[in-house]
Amino acid sequence: MQMEMKDNFVCVECGRKAKSIFKRYENGITKLSRCVYCGHLVDEYTELDGVLVFLNLLLHKIQAFRHLIYNRTFTNHKKWLFLYMLTDIYSKWCFISKWRCKEKEQSEMEKWNDFMTNYFLMLTIVTLCEYITQTIVALCLIKSIAVKNGYHNLSMEKIVQVLIISQYGRLFNMAVAIWSSDDYLFFMLAQCLIFTTSVQSFRVLLSRSSMLVSMVTSVISLATSFLVAMVAQYHFISL
Ligand SMILES: [Zn+2]
Repeated sequence: MQMEMKDNFVCVECGRKAKSIFKRYENGITKLSRCVYCGHLVDEYTELDGVLVFLNLLLHKIQAFRHLIYNRTFTNHKKWLFLYMLTDIYSKWCFISKWRCKEKEQSEMEKWNDFMTNYFLMLTIVTLCEYITQTIVALCLIKSIAVKNGYHNLSMEKIVQVLIISQYGRLFNMAVAIWSSDDYLFFMLAQCLIFTTSVQSFRVLLSRSSMLVSMVTSVISLATSFLVAMVAQYHFISL
């Protein structure tokens, strides 16, 4: 994850604003700053390797989400979106392919040709519909909650950034499609991961709201986009 440091920070422990992450002493030594409110280090994740930060995200540590959302500048929006789309298109195709195999036997080459000629464009459109719906619903909900709670300067860019971070669980759809496409348990576990990371991200963004608000926002945005994707997929397949 390639990211740069920025200049307005948040303490990852208590979530309040901090002036800086590092403090430079007169003798030239630089150390991590302590939060003036809670006394903890403002952001110890700054010194951690990207893999360790990702593991902390997997463990759903709210400090790791605050670190990514507030103390780093996310610079790879397009790359992450592209990766999510490829993952979703491929996993959707695996489920369609399994369904079609019941109708007729196909060799691997026939499946690949079938995918490229009949389904790639259709699944791309379906996935785009899903993403656009989820973004619009989440933007409207988060913006209205933020305004109600006094966050008038919450930018659209920040909300989109949080949405991208919150969807990293989609990458596990690829692993499920490759290794366990017959097992709906792993598919459901991947969907649960997407939901829980979404809740954690919204909790950080809507820190003045309750966890229930983050859960309801996640459920509505994910369920709406899932329904749109299902309807679009059914429409294209039945053409
Ligand atoms: Zn603090």
